[in-house]
Amino acid sequence: MTGALRADVVVVGGGAAGLAAAVALARSRRSVVVVDAGQPRNAPADGAHNVLGNEGIAPLELLARGRAEAEGYGVRIVRGSATGASGVLDDFTVEVDGGALSVRARRVVLATGLVDDLPAVPGIAEGWGSSVLHCPFCHGWEVRDRRIAVLGRTENWLHQVVLFRGLSDDVTFLRHEAPEPTPEQEEQLAALGVPVVTGRVERLVVDGTQVRAVAVEGGGVFEVDAVVVAPRFLARTELYEALGGKRTTTPFGEHVAADPRGATAVPGVWAAGNAGELTAVVVASAASGVLVGAAVHGDLAVADLAQAVRSRRDPFSAATEARVGALVGGDRRHGL
Ligand SMILES: Cc1cc2nc3c(=O)[nH]c(=O)nc-3n(C[C@H](O)[C@H](O)[C@H](O)COP(=O)(O)OP(=O)(O)OC[C@H]3O[C@@H](n4cnc5c(N)ncnc54)[C@H](O)[C@@H]3O)c2cc1C
Repeated sequence: MTGALRADVVVVGGGAAGLAAAVALARSRRSVVVVDAGQPRNAPADGAHNVLGNEGIAPLELLARGRAEAEGYGVRIVRGSATGASGVLDDFTVEVDGGALSVRARRVVLATGLVDDLPAVPGIAEGWGSSVLHCPFCHGWEVRDRRIAVLGRTENWLHQVVLFRGLSDDVTFLRHEAPEPTPEQEEQLAALGVPVVTGRVERLVVDGTQVRAVAVEGGGVFEVDAVVVAPRFLARTELYEALGGKRTTTPFGEHVAADPRGATAVPGVWAAGNAGELTAVVVASAASGVLVGAAVHGDLAVADLAQAVRSRRDPFSAATEARVGALVGGDRRHGL
């Protein structure tokens, strides 16, 4: 698609969060354009779990259904990558694919998700989302009772050991880059029956996407069925920064700081899903999208009310505002 589009709201990102925001907005008769590069974070996984009513659904199938639902309410979905953003409250422009298309809108929802920054160990990328895992709630059930190794990276390793130990009796802690366990942690590992391997992990032995073994510095090779890693969660913050925001760094990664309803420090810019909350799973991301959609609609409704009052008080200025409004917001009924 080329040219220029106008809408009340441009949503960047068409994952669970962005599509849920778009549906909520469109059902309130807001015109919405979703720009989506089509690479949701959980795409490598066979199924999405803990998705009530759609348990185990293929991630791309879930989003295809979401797109159809959004389009059913008049949402326009643009396949492409938002490569730039500019403007201020009431008049933002999002540039798609280096300027092939531009979208002007009164409000921006950033639902661009995050990038999982994985440990730099050969084999991890190949098994990622299949037999190299991070989240016990997303894929723990699928590896229950299997041979699981937890790869240490930071001081937060115990959390994953405990949660995966609840799923299997055969859990090993590979210290790798993690600090040496404290005496208290050693006692906890012993109580759980979790052995520790101290050398650095050199590589995972993988067969397609299935990890078979872990090779450790010094020649040790341990057969495993799954490896648990701790990614750094790096939300895509480039567009937020282009709009004047600053990314927030935490021990777990980087994100766009937002209030519980998604409002950021930049007026008119909102964050939904993993862009604003690094730990949000699919349903939580969709819930965040609905909340953000409702909040943005409320924000626009208040702005529209203020304009209606001004128009009533001063019809001459109302005519001017209507012209400006048509320029900026377009025709809401037809989403032009
Ligand atoms: C391997 C793996 C498995 C997982 N399994 C589960 C599970 O079973 N159950 C569960 O609840 N959660 C699971 N999760 C977590 C789940 O992936 C996230 O909760 C969810 O994807 C977050 O939704 P989102 O809409 O915020 O981001 P995403 O789903 O990542 O969607 C973001 C969208 O924005 C697009 N985008 C990004 N930047 C741009 C741009 N500049 N322009 C246009 N489009 C852009 C992307 O291409 C993508 O389509 C898993 C995560 C991983 C890594």
